[in-house]
Amino acid sequence: MALEEAEAAGQSGEVPVGAILVKGDRVLARNHNRCIELHDPTAHAEILVLRQGGEVLKNYRLVGTALYVTVEPCPMCASAMIHGRISRLIFGAREPKFGAVESTMRLLKENALNHSVAVDHGVLEAECIETMRSFFNKKRAAKKIEGSKQKSVGRKLEKESGKREAGREKQNTESSRQ
Ligand code: ZN
Repeated sequence: MALEEAEAAGQSGEVPVGAILVKGDRVLARNHNRCIELHDPTAHAEILVLRQGGEVLKNYRLVGTALYVTVEPCPMCASAMIHGRISRLIFGAREPKFGAVESTMRLLKENALNHSVAVDHGVLEAECIETMRSFFNKKRAAKKIEGSKQKSVGRKLEKESGKREAGREKQNTESSRQ
């Protein structure tokens, strides 16, 4: 389910991270990264499900909940989980740059914050890694194409690439490219 959310994020151009918040066998919330959509640097999947979960439970203490997320949480999200007193975190892929659970620090374990969260990782790890990898590969590929177009056709890029795709190249576009 968290992976489906990650896919949805990727399709709308967001970094593909998905999360769900569960209590017992009840899914309280599911969401994905929406930073671009909401113009909000804090709109990470984990933050969004914590907020929704609080609404559902009518309580900012989310005791007894488990948060599933496709990628290792960043420091902001890990801290939010401590504030929310969640009981368990299950994540898929490690995040070597921003991960704050195992990779760069161990916020949920070795803290002086009076609450620790049980952590499992590696659940569907390969799928989670693949979702991230294919998203960033596509992004890099798109950038490359953009770059080479820009070199050859300059500012008329958008107009002309549209024409080319339609297979109707006009002579003047040809000459401007030479
Ligand atoms: Zn985060």
